[in-house]
Amino acid sequence: GEGGGDPLLDGLNPAQERAVVSRGPALLIVAGAGSGKTRVLTHRIAHLIRNKEAWPSQILAITFTNKAAAEMRERIEGLLGDGAQGMWISTFHSACVRILRREAERFGYVSGFTIYDSADSRALLKRIIKELDADTYGFTPANAGSKISKLKNELSDADDYAATMNENDPRDRLFVEIFKMYEQELRRANAFDFDDLIGQTVQLFRAHPDVAAVYQRRFRHILVDEYQDTNHAQYSLIRELTRAVAPEEVDRLMPPARERELDASGGIPPASLTVVGDSDQSIYAFRGADIRNIVEFERDFRGAEVVKLEQNYRSTQNILSAANAVIGNNFDRQEKNLWTAEGDGAKIVGFTGYSQHDEARFVAEEIEDLHRAGTAYGDIAVFYRTNSQTRALEELLIRSAIPYRVLGGTKFYERAEIKDAMAYLTSIANPYDPIAWSRLLGAPKRGVGPMAEAHLANFQEAQGISFHEAMLRADEVGALGPKLRGTARQLAELLTRAARMAVGGGATDDSAEEAQPAPVGDVLKLILDETEMIEKLRAKRDPQDDARAENLEELIAVAREFDAKQPGAGLLAFLTEVSLVAAADDLDDTSGTVSLMTMHTAKGLEFKAVFITGVEEGLLPHQMSVDEVGGISEERRLMYVGITRAREQLYLTLASTRATFGDISVAMPSRFLQEIPEGLIDWRQSPGEVTGRGGTESRALNAPRGSSSGYGAGGPRSRGRIDSSVSFGSSGSRGGSGAAAVSEPASGNMQSALEKWRE
Ligand code: ATP
Ligand code: MG
Repeated sequence: GEGGGDPLLDGLNPAQERAVVSRGPALLIVAGAGSGKTRVLTHRIAHLIRNKEAWPSQILAITFTNKAAAEMRERIEGLLGDGAQGMWISTFHSACVRILRREAERFGYVSGFTIYDSADSRALLKRIIKELDADTYGFTPANAGSKISKLKNELSDADDYAATMNENDPRDRLFVEIFKMYEQELRRANAFDFDDLIGQTVQLFRAHPDVAAVYQRRFRHILVDEYQDTNHAQYSLIRELTRAVAPEEVDRLMPPARERELDASGGIPPASLTVVGDSDQSIYAFRGADIRNIVEFERDFRGAEVVKLEQNYRSTQNILSAANAVIGNNFDRQEKNLWTAEGDGAKIVGFTGYSQHDEARFVAEEIEDLHRAGTAYGDIAVFYRTNSQTRALEELLIRSAIPYRVLGGTKFYERAEIKDAMAYLTSIANPYDPIAWSRLLGAPKRGVGPMAEAHLANFQEAQGISFHEAMLRADEVGALGPKLRGTARQLAELLTRAARMAVGGGATDDSAEEAQPAPVGDVLKLILDETEMIEKLRAKRDPQDDARAENLEELIAVAREFDAKQPGAGLLAFLTEVSLVAAADDLDDTSGTVSLMTMHTAKGLEFKAVFITGVEEGLLPHQMSVDEVGGISEERRLMYVGITRAREQLYLTLASTRATFGDISVAMPSRFLQEIPEGLIDWRQSPGEVTGRGGTESRALNAPRGSSSGYGAGGPRSRGRIDSSVSFGSSGSRGGSGAAAVSEPASGNMQSALEKWRE
C-alpha cells in the first residue's frame, strides 16, 4: 500500500490517507456511498492515539446508531491492539445523556431523570389534550407531538412559537398552551423527552459557560459520521463544543489548565472537528435534518480542508452505475461519480409479481437459492419503504423456514408487558415520574381505578412529595377506602425494597460497611416475583400471553447480560441504555439470519445481497412525498441509500397489484426504475409481462404512466413464461407450488381497481 508499512495507512488510497493524516482545525470528508468514510474516521482516531497526539479521553466520535458506535469501538481497539478506554464513541443522544446526568442539578433536575420515548411523550400529551379539550380543535397526541418535536429540533420553545404565530388563530394559541403545559409536566416528572436530550444540552452550554468550558477543553478531537443527517439542534451542539475557551473561563476550570493547553491569549483553542457525509444520503429531512449543515460547512468552520473520495470499495460497477443513474436525476447537487476497480459483477435482477405475495414468494425462493450457493443468511437483507410491507414477506419466509429478523419493527421495549416491568425500574430511579407510576399501578391489575389514581396523584401534588412517598402515606388520603390504602402501601413497600436493593447498603445511616448495589437482574427478578406478573400471564393459558411471559423472561436475561457486561454499573445505566436503543440497534445478533428493515434503518450498513421490495409509485417514492416540496428528491436519495448497501447482488422487486387495508389496488412501477439504464437489469419478470385476466387488462395495467419504456424486453428466458391466460390464483413462474395457497383470487375489488385505472 501507499502507507509504506504503517498498518493504519496500509491499503488506503491517497485521498483516504490524506483524510487520516491531515491536521487542520476542521476537515470535511465528502464522498459517495461505500467510499470508506466510516473506515477513514476509524483509522483517523486510531492514528491520533497511536501517535500520542491525543488521549482516548480527548476523543468524541459521533455515530448514527449505538450499533455503529460499538462497531467503531471494536475496530479501533483492533487497530490499536488494546482498549480505547475513556473514549466517547456514541450517538448524539447517548453523549448528551452522559453530560446531562452529570450536570442535571443545574436545571433543577436530578440525575435519575427519566428519558421519555415517543410512547411516553404521547401518553403525557394525551392527558394534556384531554385536560385542555384540545381534541375538539383537531389536536391529537401524534400531531401535537410531532409539531413539538420539530420545533425542538430547531431549538425553539413555546415562547418562540408564540412570538411568530398568528395571534388570531385559536388553534395556534391552544398549541402554545399544550406545548407549555407539556414542558411543565416534563419538568415536574423529572423527565426529558428524546429531543430535549440534545436541546437541553445546548441550553446548558449556553447558559453555563463554565460547564461548557469543561467539555470544550476535554474534547480535543470531535468526529461526526453521517453529518448530512444532523439537524439544527445537533449542529448547534457541535458548534458549542468546538468553541475556544475564553481566558476568563480557563481560570475557573477545575483542575487548572496546563500551560501547554493554552494559546497566545491564555485561552484554550477550539477542538479540531472532522465530519464525514454524503449529501446524496440525506434522508431525515422529516426529523429536521438539514443538508445545509454540510453544504455550508466551509463557511461555518473557517480554514476547513475538504477531502473528496470517489472510489467505492463496496459494490460492483453495475450496482454503482444504477446508483449513479438514479441520483443523477436530482438537480441541485454536486456531481459525483462512484466507481470501483472491481469490475461489473452480476446484473441487477428485476422481478414483478402479480401481488405482494407473489413478490414475497420470489424473494424467498431467491434467498433459498443464494443460501444454497453459499451466501450466509446474515449477508442477505430485504428492504422496504414502510413497515406494513413486512407481513407478506414474513409469511413466505416462515413458510420457507428461512431464519430472519425484523430490525426496528415493533421493538422489544415497546411491548406492553416490557413497558410494564420497566415502569417499576423507572419509578425506582425517578419516583416523580407520573407516566411510569400510573403504568405500574395497573400492572398487574390490582383494582386501582382512575378515581383512586386521581386521589393519590392529587395528594402527591398537594404535598409536593414523590409518588412513592404518596403511596407510603396512603392512610392520609381520606378519599381512599381502607382496601385501596392497603394496596397502595403494599406496592410502596415493594418499591422500597427494590430501591434499597438497587442502591445497595439498605440505605441506613448506621450501616458500617457499604453493601454493593445489587445486579439489575436481581432487582427485576424481585419485582416480577413479588407482583407475580409472569405467573399470572402463564395462568391464562393463552399462547399470546405465553409469548408475553417469555418476553418478560427475556427481559431478565437482558438485564443479567447487562450486569455481566458492566458489573456494578447499576440501575440508572441500565435504564439509560434501554431508552437509547434505536431502530438499527436490535437486541439480537443478526449474524445467522436474513435482516428485514426499512431503507431508513439500512443507512451505513452493507450486505452481500440486497432485495429492495415494493419499487412502485406510491411506495417508493412514497405517496406522501409526491406533493411535498423536495419530497421526490428525498425519496430518490432513499433509493440511492438502498441500492448502495449491496456488495454483489441487487434485486429490485415490485408487485403489479397490492392489497392495503383490505383494498386491492393497481400498482405502477416506480419512476426510479425507469431511471436505471435498461441494460443493467435482468428482468426475470418485467412489469410488462405480468398479466391480468387477459391481454387488454394486462396492457392497461402495466403501461407506466406517461412512458413507453421498454419494460416488455424481458429477455428470452422470462419471455417463455408469458402467459396471458394466467389467472390471479396461480403462480406465474417457477412452478412455485406454495404460491397458490397465499395468493388472493381475483376479486370484485380487483375488477373495480382495474376499472378505475382505465378511466
Ligand atoms: P456509507 O456511505 O454507506 O456510510 P462509507 O463511505 O462509510 O459508506 P465504509 O463503510 O467505510 O464506506 O466502506 C465501505 C466498504 O469498503 C467497507 O467494507 C470497507 O471496509 C471497504 N473499504 C473502504 N476503503 C477501503 C480500502 N482502501 N481498501 C479496501 N476496502 C476498503
Ligand atoms: Mg459510513
